[in-house]
Amino acid sequence: MHPPGADRVLVRHGEIGTKSEQVRRSMEERLAENLSAILAERDVDGTIDRQRSRLFVHTDDPTAAVDAATDTFGVVSASAVTTVEPTLEAICEELAAITASGFDGGTFAVDARRAGPQSAHDFSSEDIESEGGAAVWDAIEATGADPVVDLDDPDVTFHVECRPERAYLFLDKVSGPGGLPVGTQEPVVVLLSGGIDSPVAAWKLLKRGCPIVPVYVDLGDFGGPDHRARAISTAETLGRYAPNFDCSVRVVPGGDVVETLADELDETRMLALRRFMLAVGERIAASTGAVGVATGEAIGQKSSQTSANLAVTDVAVDCPVFRPNLTADKSDITQRARAIETFEESTIPTGCNRVAPSLPETNASVATVREREPADLFERARSVADRAEVVDPNR
Ligand code: ATP
Ligand code: MG
Repeated sequence: MHPPGADRVLVRHGEIGTKSEQVRRSMEERLAENLSAILAERDVDGTIDRQRSRLFVHTDDPTAAVDAATDTFGVVSASAVTTVEPTLEAICEELAAITASGFDGGTFAVDARRAGPQSAHDFSSEDIESEGGAAVWDAIEATGADPVVDLDDPDVTFHVECRPERAYLFLDKVSGPGGLPVGTQEPVVVLLSGGIDSPVAAWKLLKRGCPIVPVYVDLGDFGGPDHRARAISTAETLGRYAPNFDCSVRVVPGGDVVETLADELDETRMLALRRFMLAVGERIAASTGAVGVATGEAIGQKSSQTSANLAVTDVAVDCPVFRPNLTADKSDITQRARAIETFEESTIPTGCNRVAPSLPETNASVATVREREPADLFERARSVADRAEVVDPNR
C-alpha cells in the first residue's frame, strides 16, 4: 500500500555502501543509469535524484516505479513515499492525513528512524513514534473506528524516516533483488540452452553486476528450431532486467559436431560435448571482451555434472568456468526460474532427439576423455564460434 499522494520512490541499495567512497559513487551512478533504463523501457515517467546512500525517483506513477526499482539489480528495497518538512508537527499532520485517506482497519504501529547529526532535529525517533502514534490514533478515532496498537506484529506500519532535509513517510518496503548494478563487473559468456538452469545462472551473473554474452549452440537434428527459439526467448526475458545492455544471442552451428560425437563416442559423449561448448564459449569470450564462460551446471545434477566430470570439462579451456548454480538444489533453481519468469519458456517441450547415451560415464578421467574425443574437436569449436549468428532477441 502506498501513502495517498506519494510522489516519489525511495530506493535503497545495500552492498554498494560497503565500498570506498570512489567506488560507491561510480556504482551509484551506474545504478541510477540502469534504473532509468528500466523506467524508460516500461514507459514509466520518472526522474532520478541521487542522494547519499539512496536514490529517489520523482514520478507520478509510484506503483510502476516501485516495480521497476525492485527489478533493478543492486536495489535492496523500495518504498513509495510522501515527504514533509522535518518537524514533529509536519510529520504528525501527514500521518493523520494518510490515516484519514488511506487506512482501512487493523492494528497499527509507527516505526521511526532519525538520521543525521543530533543537532538537525530537536526531537528523537521515540518522540516521532509516540506523538506520531497519537496522531494516527486520533485520526482513526475520528472515523468512528477503535484504534488498536500492536508494536510486535501490526497490520499497518507507518514508517517515518526523518533526515535533516526532509522527513519521508511510507507504508511498505518492497524487496528488490539485491546484488550489484549490471555493468559494475566485466562481462561473462553464458552457455544458454534455454533449459531451466542456464537462464537462472545468467540471472545470477547479472545480479552480481556482470553483463552477459549469451551463447546458444544449435544442436542440429538433436536440437531444432523450437529448441533455439526457447533459448532466444529466455534471453529476451533476461534482457528485460538490463535493457541498456546488449543481450543478443550468439547462435553457433554445432549440428555437425554433435553428429560426429553421437556417431563416434558412447560413454564420454556428453563430456566431449560440454568440452566443445566451453571451447566455443572461450572463443566468443575472447572476441567480445568477456572474462570467462558460465554454465547452468550444479554438482551432481546430471551424469555430466558429477564433481569428477565437472573437473574434466573445466580443463578443456584456459579461461575461468563460472557455475553460479554450482551448489544449488534443482528445487531452488526451479523456484528462481519461476520468480524471474523464465520457467514457462524453459519447459516448452521441444521434442528433439536425445544426445545423451544410455550409460554415461560418471567418473571420467581427463586422459580417457581426451583419448576418445575427436582430435580436431577444439579446432572445430573455434571454427563454428567464428561463424556465430548474432540474434537480437527483441527483434
Ligand atoms: P539447462 O536447464 O540449463 O539446459 P541441464 O540441466 O539441462 O541445464 P545440460 O543439458 O546437461 O543441463 O547442460 C549443462 C549446461 O550446458 C547448461 O546449463 C548450459 O549452460 C550448457 N548447455 C547445454 N546445452 C546447451 C546448448 N545447446 N547451447 C548452449 N549451452 C548449452
Ligand atoms: Mg539442458
